[in-house]
Amino acid sequence: MDELSARQLREKIVAGEVRSAEAVAKVFERIEKFDPEVGAYISTYRDEAFETAEDVDRRVSAGEAVGVLAGVPVAIKDNMCTTFGATTCASKILENFHSPYNATVVEKLLAADAVIVGKANMDEFAMGSSTENSALKRTVNPWDANRVPGGSSGGPAAAVAGRLCSAALGSDTGGSIRQPAGFCGVVGLKPTYGRVSRFGLVAYGSSLDQIGPITRTVDDCALMLGVIAGHDPSDSTSVDEQTAHVPDYLEKLDQPVGNLKIANVPKFNEGADEQVRAALDEALDVYRQLGAEVLDIEMPHLDYAIAAYYVIATAEASSNLARYDGVHYGHRTERPRDYVEVYSKSRAEAFGKEVKRRIMLGTYALSSGYYDAYYLKALKVRNLIRNDFADAFGECNCIVMPVSPTTAFRLGDKIDDPLQMYLSDVYTIAANLAGIPGISIPCGFDDKGLPIGLQILAPAFGEAELLRIARMFEANTDWHKKAPPLESVDN
Ligand code: GLN
Repeated sequence: MDELSARQLREKIVAGEVRSAEAVAKVFERIEKFDPEVGAYISTYRDEAFETAEDVDRRVSAGEAVGVLAGVPVAIKDNMCTTFGATTCASKILENFHSPYNATVVEKLLAADAVIVGKANMDEFAMGSSTENSALKRTVNPWDANRVPGGSSGGPAAAVAGRLCSAALGSDTGGSIRQPAGFCGVVGLKPTYGRVSRFGLVAYGSSLDQIGPITRTVDDCALMLGVIAGHDPSDSTSVDEQTAHVPDYLEKLDQPVGNLKIANVPKFNEGADEQVRAALDEALDVYRQLGAEVLDIEMPHLDYAIAAYYVIATAEASSNLARYDGVHYGHRTERPRDYVEVYSKSRAEAFGKEVKRRIMLGTYALSSGYYDAYYLKALKVRNLIRNDFADAFGECNCIVMPVSPTTAFRLGDKIDDPLQMYLSDVYTIAANLAGIPGISIPCGFDDKGLPIGLQILAPAFGEAELLRIARMFEANTDWHKKAPPLESVDN
């Protein structure tokens, strides 16, 4: 049963062929068996999950209507607020934070009758590319327990790859959905900025953050996006129907895109490992065989994306994280001498090293005298990158590039070298700066048996076509059908 996609599972549940409670039992069996090693989940909700599942089963047998994710076990990244359990952001400062409300995406999942099985691990406050910055636990890559699952949505990606849920939600500020999806051999979509409500998502870089699906198939990705997309009055950055209609992402999913023009950026891709580049070339061949035209383009400003991102993201983070003051949320220091110590000690005690580094970097970039030199300059670069994309999309339907310059690296390899860690985001960051959607789909394996991801980028609000383009590749390849050899993790 674990090889059913979320969509197939839902169909079987609705047809009465599989009970949701059975599916959930199976998922918890696997979680018990494999998660002590994989470490995908920070918390799981067995009782609540069975309650929801049994309710779905009862409604199905009574012939009542059920939602589009009826009975499907899903995981969410632990930076999305839930009224059940804690919302930790994998940080000591929020370890015991219980939200009084659900994030809009959580409400939407529940309204679609999804079964939320647990909240998954991440880099603290979504800052990182390996999940090693989690202050609460370690997550390994289901394909190789010595390697990182990617980050910051390493928990959701490992859970989906390890068949510890059918689908998941992650968040992506600079690659955090696409890169772990790539490292774990699953599908990850960062929607257009504004496509999905971020109400109840703990903020990292507010002009960059987006929530999106991590799934095993493009089909499931379209299904999940349909559930979470749309305007939300509680999030003023979410776009309304008039500005950008939410189409039925599944409707034309299997119709190949005619006259498809794909742009490749050879110069920018030179920085990727040979095997990653070879997989990209092979993927382009698949598209060529399907009738697509591949054009080589240049995007001169992409080289500056990392520098601009790490100024903008840290600047926004430094102001977003000011709210953790020892008073409003979470951890408070014991026996402070005065109120200044309430702030300083609470923060010093409960933020991890990387979070502190970013708060300092961001505060510096915003400080008077440096604001123009760093922050404003980064915003200008951001505009140039946006223009590069606008120019490119004038000539093509989509742009392809690697997700990451390498496959999953070893645990510990980059954690003491923040710059190396930042540089590993080279291919994912530009999409966030430009606000455009990007998807990562499995496109091969390296000689160590580690998954390689293919990234496809599309114009803003072009998710429907982006998913169709991704589906064309998936329908003609088998990479997405490969499952990690978790049994070897077993002993
Ligand atoms: N790795 C990037 C960072 O550390 C992106 C993280 C993310 O997308 N949340 O900021």
